[in-house]
Amino acid sequence: MKKNVNRFIEIERCDAPKLPLAQRKVEFKEIYTQLETTDLKQQAERCLECGNPYCQWKCPLHNYIPQWLKLAYEGRVIEAAELSHQTNSFPEICGRVCPQDRLCEGSCTLNDGFGAVSIGNVERYVNDEAFKQGWQPNYTSQYQLEQKVAVLGAGPAGLACADMLTRMGFKVTVFERQAMIGGLLTYGIPAFKLEKSILQHRFELFQQAGVEFRLNTEIGRDISLAQIETEFDAIFIGTGTYLPVREASLQISTNGVIESLEYLTAVNQDLLANQDIQYKSLVETKQVVVLGGGDTAMDCIRTSLRLGANAVTGVYRRTQSDMPGSAKEYLNACEEGAKFIFNAQPVAILAQDGQVTGVRFIQTKIEVDANKRKQLVNIVGSEFDVEADLVITAFGFQVEDLAWLESSSIERDKTNRRIKIMAKQLNQQTTNPKIFAGGDIVRGANLVVNAIADGMQGARDIQQFLLN
Ligand code: SF4
Repeated sequence: MKKNVNRFIEIERCDAPKLPLAQRKVEFKEIYTQLETTDLKQQAERCLECGNPYCQWKCPLHNYIPQWLKLAYEGRVIEAAELSHQTNSFPEICGRVCPQDRLCEGSCTLNDGFGAVSIGNVERYVNDEAFKQGWQPNYTSQYQLEQKVAVLGAGPAGLACADMLTRMGFKVTVFERQAMIGGLLTYGIPAFKLEKSILQHRFELFQQAGVEFRLNTEIGRDISLAQIETEFDAIFIGTGTYLPVREASLQISTNGVIESLEYLTAVNQDLLANQDIQYKSLVETKQVVVLGGGDTAMDCIRTSLRLGANAVTGVYRRTQSDMPGSAKEYLNACEEGAKFIFNAQPVAILAQDGQVTGVRFIQTKIEVDANKRKQLVNIVGSEFDVEADLVITAFGFQVEDLAWLESSSIERDKTNRRIKIMAKQLNQQTTNPKIFAGGDIVRGANLVVNAIADGMQGARDIQQFLLN
């Protein structure tokens, strides 16, 4: 089938349809539905197959984007899914949670005036559709290797490593402290962005492939790292970052001030258990203020709107265009009723009788210093108060002080506790040659897609370590 290379002029960019606003504002269901088949083909057809696919280079996994767009255009979804799985352990997840506007789509040649090809939607479509048609990733390796590998943490890095190692023929055991796999994909990201049935499906595929899961098992409490080292030939650590970053000046111990992950995890756990959401009574009809400008802040804002808050205000210390999260999620929050205040820095939690009543802010602006560097400065005398019944802080995460890692020979960065990677020959190898690591515990809080990239690379490194 010959392509018309001018279709990008005739056809506009099109996103996946969203559920009606009235419905999506009260439900914890994915708001995006699948692209119509004609839209899928048209979007795939818009790809110029340019000789220099910047999208592919900007994608942390270097996905074969133009190639699977072509297969999607030709209706060959199974082959498109096969191809996308060659470079990505979980393309159906990346299609949903990647900030495409900052990655592949942000680098699409058509993003310069015509609107990028909606790559994430096509990635999601072909993989969802292939699964619906009964396709499965192939875990039948030509080798059945005797070496056993332990993966610590069932978040995106650990699962991607387990996926690749299983494809290579290793015996894999995954240790996870929670009752379900996924890490932040399950307990952090709300279901309106990523439904939990997707992780359940992956769990079933892993089990069919022979991966052993030791859930509800905490390293250092239920089993020591030394025991795992004795039992296994290599180890991959992908236990993530869960410790909230705090603003020292804010009284976060006040009643009615909570941390983003505590909030999102509690809501996700109640939804998973099919029980009443305990936070609802604290949010319903209340004024909620969310501090922070990343995707986690947007998740808290949109969760609060669904729990019936009277008003939800997001406050960020810089401008809207400086927000570190995805523009798509900010727009979704606005559509669902959130209000935003920019260039405002929180300076105090206001309280009465130990209960939060609001937040005091000071306005900020950018000034250029003597070295021509841009600095964010507070504007003297510009303080103002915003009333709140509930304040949620979302300033990011850092690596926890993991006691079980302290006793190991793995070197960590002294200030931020991240695991150090030696990267002389093997990209993800730690100072203990038998132990590899990746994802947030190495990078600090980062994107899901980068954790997947680390996990996949970790598996390649372990293969080289064990087989050479
Ligand atoms: Fe884009 Fe993420 Fe998919 Fe890469 S993995 S193509 S960045 S959506």
